[in-house]
Amino acid sequence: MNIYRQIYKEIKKNNKIIIVTHLRADGDCIGSAIGLREIIKNTFKDKDVKASYEYVGYLSYLGKCDEIEDKEFDEALIISVDNANITRANDKRILGHTNVIKIDHHPNHEPFGYINFVEEEKSSCAEMIFDFFMNIPNRKISLRGLEAIYTGIMTDSGFLKYNSVTGDTFKKIGMLYDMGVDGAKIRNMLDEVTIDELKFKGYVYEHMESTPNGVLYIKISPEAREKYNVEYDEASNMVGALANVKEHPIWVLINEYKKDEIRCRVRSLEIPINGVAQSFGGGGHALASGIVVKDYETVDKILEALDNLLKK
Ligand code: AMP
Repeated sequence: MNIYRQIYKEIKKNNKIIIVTHLRADGDCIGSAIGLREIIKNTFKDKDVKASYEYVGYLSYLGKCDEIEDKEFDEALIISVDNANITRANDKRILGHTNVIKIDHHPNHEPFGYINFVEEEKSSCAEMIFDFFMNIPNRKISLRGLEAIYTGIMTDSGFLKYNSVTGDTFKKIGMLYDMGVDGAKIRNMLDEVTIDELKFKGYVYEHMESTPNGVLYIKISPEAREKYNVEYDEASNMVGALANVKEHPIWVLINEYKKDEIRCRVRSLEIPINGVAQSFGGGGHALASGIVVKDYETVDKILEALDNLLKK
């Protein structure tokens, strides 16, 4: 039996389904969760299906997360989307459960769930959700679900730019358009910035620094965010502002959430950086990884390790 049929059968068997994602939500995890919820809700009319994800302002057009009581987890099939490590789940109530299916596109260092469906080569988890949709019988989905899948694919592929994108990814976007998604409308919502964010971008360009061999980085403190009136997530999204700078093939946005919690978003044009991320307790894709550390001494060690990659 193919994997789509297998997951379909498991959904069919369970009346209650809860979808969970990863911490520090992004377009792919929310898009995958809502996309899958809308597939299940519309294809199987009798299912009680809920999605748990963190609120992100710039994705609010996809709608609010469902309220889920603790006891609902006891009898539910839990489907984890876009999350490589169960300890990084946004909803810790998944821990200790065995009735779990993992659907993900990150390196599969920590398989979990009784079905572990991982396709590392896929541009996004939302692309996997779309494949699932196209491979099940009597499939139905709402426009909201299609928009969510579109959002997941577009945001995790750098708007169809990264090397994980294939002709097939483009075809899926074409099919989503044919099914009614207004890509321009969504793109405009995703691209919208505030004047404060624009000014903050100026701050990033003025304060970015480089290591000796060309790791471009910016350190963002809570005070800087406050001065420019930007939220933590908005500041985090500035990682793209450091991309494609000549002679700087690795770039890092360091965003201090609060004391003892400093998030490093590491990006690279072609040299894999997830080995360095893993050695500091983080992880992710070869060219897009994340690490959360407690202090700036560790941040400097990470920058040094990345700089060493360029020295080689
Ligand atoms: P981010 O910079 O947060 O967008 O992360 C880039 C990629 O690395 C995403 O696929 C994340 O899921 C993954 N990632 C981020 N932070 C961590 C972490 N602390 N541990 C493992 N993977 C992470």
